[in-house]
Amino acid sequence: MKFETIAIHAGGRPDRAFGAVSVPIYQTSTFVFEDVGKTKGYDYSRTANPTRKVLEDTIAQLEGGKAGFAFATGMAAETTVMHLLKAGDHVISGDDVYGGTYRLFQDVMSAFGLEFTFLRLDKREGIEEAIKPSTKMLWLETPSNPLLNIIDIEMVVDIAKKHKLLTVADNTFATPYFLRPIEYGVDLVVHSTTKYLNGHCDVVGGAVVTATDELTQKVQFLLNAMGTCAAPFDCWLVLRGIETLPVRMKQHEENALTVANYLKRHPRVKRVLYPGLRSHPGHEIAKKQMKGFGGVVSFELGTSIEAVNTFLRKLRVFSLAESLGGVVSLAEHPATMSHASMPEDYRERVGISDELIRLSVGLENVDDLIQDLEQALGGL
Ligand SMILES: *Cc1c(COP(=O)(O)O)cnc(C)c1O
Repeated sequence: MKFETIAIHAGGRPDRAFGAVSVPIYQTSTFVFEDVGKTKGYDYSRTANPTRKVLEDTIAQLEGGKAGFAFATGMAAETTVMHLLKAGDHVISGDDVYGGTYRLFQDVMSAFGLEFTFLRLDKREGIEEAIKPSTKMLWLETPSNPLLNIIDIEMVVDIAKKHKLLTVADNTFATPYFLRPIEYGVDLVVHSTTKYLNGHCDVVGGAVVTATDELTQKVQFLLNAMGTCAAPFDCWLVLRGIETLPVRMKQHEENALTVANYLKRHPRVKRVLYPGLRSHPGHEIAKKQMKGFGGVVSFELGTSIEAVNTFLRKLRVFSLAESLGGVVSLAEHPATMSHASMPEDYRERVGISDELIRLSVGLENVDDLIQDLEQALGGL
């Protein structure tokens, strides 16, 4: 089956019990045993739940992986994956990852004896130099948040395989509609389903997809042992969102490209970061490994920090809010919002400046979006 069909049919739909076309929400903590030691496949909803299972199977198929797991949030998914490691292990991570990922690694997992090196994953030599005998995992995000840097997955996986490192790709920005990291040999894909997979800014959720049976068993064990799983109703919302993922992603991309081209020509704008632009340093790699460039556009204003605030206050169609990937257009200021957990000197070093603004281009009519940007940029 093709992607669009999987998004609507995967996971054994329609429901076998009564033929419900919409996946039933099994809002139950526990399941009656048929006999001592015999269940109908489910015993307790932390371990597994039928609504969650449909979502997990759907995401796994969309990513081309062995199995999927649904978590309470993207961070719950990441926290669970980090528990595949043990004290003393070293992790190499992209340096401009999501702010919450940086915080989890640097401020939480470090206290448990994990060691992290944050690195721009653009050069083979740089990555190879950072590998030590204790290195066990390579963590990448492409396109990255918020700089939209593109990482050459084939190159990174090639290095990882030579050194027997586990590779994890955060595929939140691209979604499996545009990028399927497991096809390039990545071991684990993680998602914040809060973003494009759900797509409507009405739930927080996360997911992990595994590439091997061994990892499937380990992640299933950790999810159950740690209790990081998603609730049935939240799974149902994400399932409903995924049904329209392909059409949404197409339109997000079309609108984002129009916005990026508009910003590029605007005299107040210093720099536009969108991998779909030919001027983007990662454009050729993105074209090679992705089927599309996504819906997030970041840009820098060439004026003062006050102008950034004025611009954000003047927006009318774009809302000033964290998060991304919903039908509604959002604008945010990484330095004080999504990436405030990074120390200022670290942010500066990786290029997340105070002038940087991140737009999640939604599905409103693009003329209205451009007009909104035009009036907000006017008179800065
Ligand atoms: C939002 C986000 C996360 C964290 O997900 P939550 O659902 O907010 O916990 C992780 N990675 C990326 C790229 C994100 O954008």
